[in-house]
Amino acid sequence: MFRFEEPTWADEWMQYFNRAEIILKNAEARKGQKPSYKPSRSQYIFYHSSLNQEAGGGVKAEGSKDDTLGFSTNITYNEYPPCTVPFSTLEKKLLDDLRLEIAHRGSYIILRAVVHPNRYVSVTTVAEDETGEVELVQIYNQDDRRHPTSIVPEGQVFIVKEPYFKATSGGGTSIRVDHVSDIIFLDGEDERIPEMWRPRLRLLARRSLDWKNDGNRFYKEERYFEAAQCYTKGLEIVEPASASHIVLLLNRAQAYLEQGYNEKALTDADMALSYEPLNLKALYRSAVACYEDGDYESAKTRLVKLLKEFPENKNAKERLLRTFQRLQEQRSGKYEFLKMRNEVKAWGGERGKLDCAEYVGPVRVGDAGHKGRGLFATRDVKFGELLLCSKAFNVCHKETSGARLTILFNIKARKGQAGTHSQLVQELIQVLYHNPKKAKKFYELGSGDYKRVRGEKVDGLPVVDSHLAMRIMLRNCFDCTRLSSTDDPIENLFKEKTEMEKMIAEASPTGTAEGSGLWIMPSYINHSCWQNSARSFLGDLLIVRAARDIPEGEEITINYLESECSVQKRQKACFSGWGFNCRCTLCEIETAEPQGVRDKREELVEKALKFYSYLKQSKKKIESGVAPMITLIKGMEATYTKPEFIHPRVPLLSPTQILQIFLVRLERPPDVHFLAKQALNGLGFKIEMKRGRVVIERYGYMYYPVVVLFIHVVTAGAMMGDLGTAILWRDAAIKVYEAVVGERESFFDVYGRALLQAGVPYD
Ligand SMILES: [Zn+2]
Repeated sequence: MFRFEEPTWADEWMQYFNRAEIILKNAEARKGQKPSYKPSRSQYIFYHSSLNQEAGGGVKAEGSKDDTLGFSTNITYNEYPPCTVPFSTLEKKLLDDLRLEIAHRGSYIILRAVVHPNRYVSVTTVAEDETGEVELVQIYNQDDRRHPTSIVPEGQVFIVKEPYFKATSGGGTSIRVDHVSDIIFLDGEDERIPEMWRPRLRLLARRSLDWKNDGNRFYKEERYFEAAQCYTKGLEIVEPASASHIVLLLNRAQAYLEQGYNEKALTDADMALSYEPLNLKALYRSAVACYEDGDYESAKTRLVKLLKEFPENKNAKERLLRTFQRLQEQRSGKYEFLKMRNEVKAWGGERGKLDCAEYVGPVRVGDAGHKGRGLFATRDVKFGELLLCSKAFNVCHKETSGARLTILFNIKARKGQAGTHSQLVQELIQVLYHNPKKAKKFYELGSGDYKRVRGEKVDGLPVVDSHLAMRIMLRNCFDCTRLSSTDDPIENLFKEKTEMEKMIAEASPTGTAEGSGLWIMPSYINHSCWQNSARSFLGDLLIVRAARDIPEGEEITINYLESECSVQKRQKACFSGWGFNCRCTLCEIETAEPQGVRDKREELVEKALKFYSYLKQSKKKIESGVAPMITLIKGMEATYTKPEFIHPRVPLLSPTQILQIFLVRLERPPDVHFLAKQALNGLGFKIEMKRGRVVIERYGYMYYPVVVLFIHVVTAGAMMGDLGTAILWRDAAIKVYEAVVGERESFFDVYGRALLQAGVPYD
């Protein structure tokens, strides 16, 4: 997230946002008007089909590809609430009745698609009303897994409730459907379809068996949405409580399970059980639905019941075993992390989900005063203890987003995000629509100043406010990677970024917007620039561990920014990203410092970073650079007046690490060793040898680079000949690694090579 009014971002971004604001102003000036000019039907169709071939030309729709940036864009100009009144109370309107920039409250419009759809961010089609007039229709937030022609094929009749008619950026007009609950797709039999659009040849009366067979065919083709639709049609006409009824319910439950609609699957399976309490498939599918939803106790009860009747059932036995494992994880917080990590590594370009339970450790949600709600320790917690192991409500990793990198703009909220956020919000909306019980936890999260509308259901279906979902997402989502530790962390530290990575980094205060996800419980953790806990990622899991000893009742904090920037920059990032002013101890100390001191420090940091790009070009340059680098670091150190454990020297760490890279290349282990210890000291650590162990007497500022400092102490120490002490430091390094990466099992995967080179053995 970034502030558009800041001139520090790439000019293109600023220009893009300014352009969007002008478009919005122009559009708002036309509010309530009728469009003065509309292209003819054939022009509309021509533009649409030319867009089909290449992005950019013709009628430009929001959600189209922007060639100047090489990204897709997903722009929300205006926020309007979804329709929350029953369809029967709405009055029909025609295209000619629509006025610009208005959601037509109390009305609906019925349309028929006259072309094949396009898809960029929205599914876009051209549709006619009963008079033959046509309009562009942009349907947002549909299920990404479905092909657009399966959503709105040519000839599809649909209703848009309370349609929003808007002026597009290209000067044209469109009906924009943001809320999934605002559109009703009608099938051939629906009585709301106007006579003139009904098929001339009435279909022969279909039996439920025909629908079942159609559904099974779709199921085999892995088109689960269509399969479920067919079973639903069959269920509408089947004899209640008949054998066919039960089969259709169970088939639909299976199709729902495939789509992740566990709540719906459970409802169907339970309905089947109400007719046949010991139906094997019904028991099994209901158990799977509970399991997939994280309700392992219910899954266990159902599986035990099943196995009493069918003791030889292999699937149920295997599933029960897994259920016991999950219950064990839930209670103990003990996981097979290495196995899980290897699984995540093997996901490649596929989406993945780890088979494991959630763990909630010694923490609870409570009142955090001016910060709203927060998470608190329920007892004294030791450094490195597991506080949370949370499963994603939804997560999008960059590995699966392929070429679909999108910029998301919300002009009213003054927010922009690059990366996978556009995809995330779209998927979140689908989860909310199909899993209403699960959705309740999502809606409890903060949404800032957005005004929420009442009404959870209308006409028997959930109402989903896409704009609310986006606001909650923007406020609560985490930038994430699949793994918190890469295999070559030291070498990766200062690896050059690609152009694309730079652009993404500029749009994110954390600079790592590679993926994004939403985790419910961790969303309650407030920020501190000097955090007491560390969050890390493992696949779809977010792990939180204590980054120092935490007394009972203390608030758990993490650092949203994970950066070493100045207090001004941190304050700006916190405010623009999440709407708060940070009042942590570090901010308090640094705001109280004279401006001149802060400026001086920042100037020196920047100098050091620039120096690095120059020096790394050759070994000779490096040699000549060591002395001036040391002078720079000393100069920075001199800007501090308070002791390290009160005011940690965080911004010194990057220059220090740069210097260490030089010293490693120059093969000067004593200097590497000294510098690493000094840097740890500078972060407020007090580390001593006691009773033959390395003991961390006081924890300083703890984040990932601290691990690298420990590794330097280990490897340099070993190279200097004191292997015994090096091994003790290695063991301390593993503890630190576990706290910031979430698990210790991968330590040797990551650092084994570096340790081995220095002659430090594996355990
Ligand atoms: Zn702060």
